[in-house]
Amino acid sequence: MKTMKYDKELLKDGKRIDGRGIDDLRDMEAKAGILKRADGSGYFRMGKTEAIAAVFGPRELHPQHKQKPQRGILQCRYNLTPFSVDDRKRPGPSRRGKEIGKVSEGALSSSIFLEEFPTATIDLYMEVISADAGTRCVALNAGSIALADAGVPMKGLISACAAGKIDDTPVLDLKGEEDMGGQVDLPIAMNADTGEITLLQMDGMTDIDEMDEMLELAMKGCEKVAEKQKEALMETF
Ligand code: UDP
Repeated sequence: MKTMKYDKELLKDGKRIDGRGIDDLRDMEAKAGILKRADGSGYFRMGKTEAIAAVFGPRELHPQHKQKPQRGILQCRYNLTPFSVDDRKRPGPSRRGKEIGKVSEGALSSSIFLEEFPTATIDLYMEVISADAGTRCVALNAGSIALADAGVPMKGLISACAAGKIDDTPVLDLKGEEDMGGQVDLPIAMNADTGEITLLQMDGMTDIDEMDEMLELAMKGCEKVAEKQKEALMETF
């Protein structure tokens, strides 16, 4: 839970430490089809947070006892690479990584027509290559581009971004210092075409009015993310 109060002022006269206003996203970059060996791939950057994603499949799931006769499954791996953070992260699986992989499966699979692939798996690898807060959102954004690039039939792209609270004020898309010194972090993922929210997590303390404000900010952020993802996919045609 976030209890720490940063000694540095994070918001002054409506401006944040990097000059952004309260409802500004960080600078974004998106690419599709970046990896030759994958069936689909994507890259997404928000500020200094970057991730690449690779999709393999749909292909027959092994071992067979894991197969679902009526539908395929999506298996997601989220990995924070050792070189992505200031203090080298110990390589290998972690509890945090496993949890983010699991919630990513939930966030993305509701948008995939998995019933079209009984007994199959779609494997999605999301590698965070640079971390400055918001890694689960950036990984999901790269992952969703990779799924679309692989031609996986989807109801729509999933787009993610976080809102949060710094210096008692709801703001969009926290960067590292804001995440560390802020009071709330609220990442969401949604289908920006339908408004369906497929992931909502929260760290910190808030009340219902602030929560509404943060949700509204995050949903508008996701719409902008979706535009960027679509531009990247259009460039591959
Ligand atoms: N972080 C880190 N080492 C870790 C996990 C996280 O340095 O093992 C940093 C990283 O910059 C990350 C931030 O802490 O973006 C916030 O992590 P959190 O677990 O809140 O998830 P995120 O906001 O990245 O989805």
